[in-house]
Amino acid sequence: MERKDLFAEVESMEENIGRLYEQLGQLKRQLKTLLEDHYKLSLENHNLRERLQERGEKGDLKEGKTNPIGEGVDNLGRLYYEGFHICNQYYGSMRQEGDCLFCLSFLNKRLGGKE
Ligand SMILES: [Zn+2]
Repeated sequence: MERKDLFAEVESMEENIGRLYEQLGQLKRQLKTLLEDHYKLSLENHNLRERLQERGEKGDLKEGKTNPIGEGVDNLGRLYYEGFHICNQYYGSMRQEGDCLFCLSFLNKRLGGKE
């Protein structure tokens, strides 16, 4: 192979890698959106269950009581430790820079009982 062909081949590889890198970036953004949607739905689901449970307890007090707040904190804590925001500020988006003070204070509030 001549040297200039070799050079052309390396250049074409470089272009391909550039395109792949771009595709990877796009996939990553799509995956991030999907994960965020998934967790927003999980949170939504969690909130709806909590409301249903509150209504159920008001409506029928003689049923055996579970602990909806403790359970809720477990779920939210799990979402948080899986790397998602549970705070109102960044609700459902991925945590990318370590702990979030809003989330932690939200969790603490919940652990303390009433909001
Ligand atoms: Zn947060």
